Amino acid sequence: MSDYRAPVKDMRFVMDELAGFRELSQYPDFAEATPDMADAILEEAAKFTREVLAPLNRVGDKAGCQLTAAGVVTPPGWKEAYKAFCDAGWNAISCPPDHAGHGQPDTIAVAVKEMIQSSNMSFSLGPLLTTGAVEALLTCASDELKAIYLEKMVTGEWTGTMNLTEPQAGSDLALIRSRAEPQADGTYRVFGQKIFITYGDHDMTDNIVHLVLARLPDAPAGVRGISMFLVPKFLVNADGSRGARNDAFCVSIEHKLGIHASPTCVMAFGDNGGAVGYLLGEANRGLEYMFIMMNEARLGVGLQGIALGERAYQQALAYARDRKQGRDALTGEALVTIDRHPDIRRMLMLMKSRVEACRALAYYTSGLLDRAHVIEDPAEKQRNLYLAEFLIPIVKGGGTEMAIEVTSLGLQIHGGMGFIEETGAAQHWRDSRITTIYEGTTGIQANDLIFRKLMRDQGATARYVFGEVAATVKSLAAAGRPELQAIARRLGDGLQAWVQATEWLSANAKTGLSGVLTAAVPYLNLAVAVGGGWLMGRAALAAAVHLDSGEGDQVFFRAKIASAHFYADQMLPLAAACAETVMAGDAALAGLGDEIF
Ligand SMILES: Cc1cc2nc3c(=O)[nH]c(=O)nc-3n(C[C@H](O)[C@H](O)[C@H](O)COP(=O)(O)OP(=O)(O)OC[C@H]3O[C@@H](n4cnc5c(N)ncnc54)[C@H](O)[C@@H]3O)c2cc1C
Repeated sequence: MSDYRAPVKDMRFVMDELAGFRELSQYPDFAEATPDMADAILEEAAKFTREVLAPLNRVGDKAGCQLTAAGVVTPPGWKEAYKAFCDAGWNAISCPPDHAGHGQPDTIAVAVKEMIQSSNMSFSLGPLLTTGAVEALLTCASDELKAIYLEKMVTGEWTGTMNLTEPQAGSDLALIRSRAEPQADGTYRVFGQKIFITYGDHDMTDNIVHLVLARLPDAPAGVRGISMFLVPKFLVNADGSRGARNDAFCVSIEHKLGIHASPTCVMAFGDNGGAVGYLLGEANRGLEYMFIMMNEARLGVGLQGIALGERAYQQALAYARDRKQGRDALTGEALVTIDRHPDIRRMLMLMKSRVEACRALAYYTSGLLDRAHVIEDPAEKQRNLYLAEFLIPIVKGGGTEMAIEVTSLGLQIHGGMGFIEETGAAQHWRDSRITTIYEGTTGIQANDLIFRKLMRDQGATARYVFGEVAATVKSLAAAGRPELQAIARRLGDGLQAWVQATEWLSANAKTGLSGVLTAAVPYLNLAVAVGGGWLMGRAALAAAVHLDSGEGDQVFFRAKIASAHFYADQMLPLAAACAETVMAGDAALAGLGDEIF
């Protein structure tokens, strides 16, 4: 099995050329985020993930987690790796400095997170959930709760969880039944069962902070009656020391297709009299708070897809350079390594270019979020935020669906050995399969893109994106290189398809709702193909400037142009087909009932 080497060169290229990283250090909040600082952080993270986390990936997959009388036990090496992870400060990288964080911009943190996820996806989920919970506390916790919990969660001394899902409430959280009863002392007693809770229990830390969605006795029905509670595994004494065990227990763990080392827990709250909980923010606004954090969380899961695609690509490339089979069709040379076969080269380049396109989208979005954070001009702030929010379902849906296809290609390149677990290629494919499901399925992302992000400003953000893509087409067409002109033609056609499909959706949103809902995922796929092609086109333009100057790693810049060209040839023609599918809507089903299934 191949080891993992973080693609630091591509990460830095995307940060600088597409995500606007260099401008960030002008802002006081990010004054320390200089290129030298970014280089140092990324090199250190690359070393840590390669040496500490990557070797445990297969160990965790094989051993999984066990539920014992003492709670959930993580695989061998997990506890030590987690301690090393926290000691090195990785958990706190983008958390605010006034709560023991390092305050680095998302544009740096996104690369570090990609490395952690690539090297060990199951491990990465604990910190991902913890930083999500930190965001929630920053958004809505009282100063008193912040003082007790925040710093320990930022450093990773305690982990956090998100308890939304119940057996009858998955995508539809309006159906949540867990309840919270107010007590005379201002606390609450929480009762209910939550399922599928990531890192709901484990042995890496001596406390776990559960964020639980539940209803108050007088709460209105539906999503407007859900509140958020902080329920610690162990109560905390006034002096900050660990107190009594709370009534919040993991009662079983799931046996899953992938991410075996990430414990997925059924949690029982209040079976022994009630779990002590503390209301976060205002009553009945729990889901609203959850939505504020959802941007980060969805971007994080999109990044998981990119991370797994990258790991699968590295492994497939190493295998293809080693495995000998068949004759070179062009030179006739006998017994060559399989990377000489054009079909293997096609699959490898498809993996590489699709990962790069989605990485570009994710890092670009992180840059927008950083700017939305530091820019003071309200109109500019909102423009950056709206654009980021428009792109987030594209990154989440696109990055994760891409991962399933790309990790499957990685497996295919291994031939029969890909189907054999010892090789390790299958693990990436199995691990990737969850990413299109949790944190909102692809169907939910597609609906979010159309009904919340596209429609909310009557298409203004989409039109801004179309304008940017058109400008890139123009620059590519004007460039003196034939490869860039070829990309321009494909991107121009892709843009036309995107605009046409968007107009169709807008025209049908009110009167043809069933057709629009049928078209939602094909529309998302279209947006991913063209959005990715746009940033690949920009990457090719930037690489051409470096080639013209003759400075820097010329092989890397040539490879960037080749990757963008290949993406344009292989992925952008799909845009026209997606647009056709979008505009077909549900025509084939009109007037037919359930009997056709
Ligand atoms: C390994 C794992 C870890 C998880 N971790 C956590 C966690 O830490 N915390 C937590 O709270 N939850 C967690 N979850 C739960 C996860 O978020 C849900 O599984 C997910 O939201 C989907 O809900 P569901 O499984 O009930 O599927 P359902 O909601 O029943 O969906 C089934 C299908 O119907 C579709 N569908 C549903 N509604 C619509 C709609 N309105 N329009 C179109 N299609 C629709 C879906 O897209 C999907 O294809 C985890 C799940 C797993 C498997």
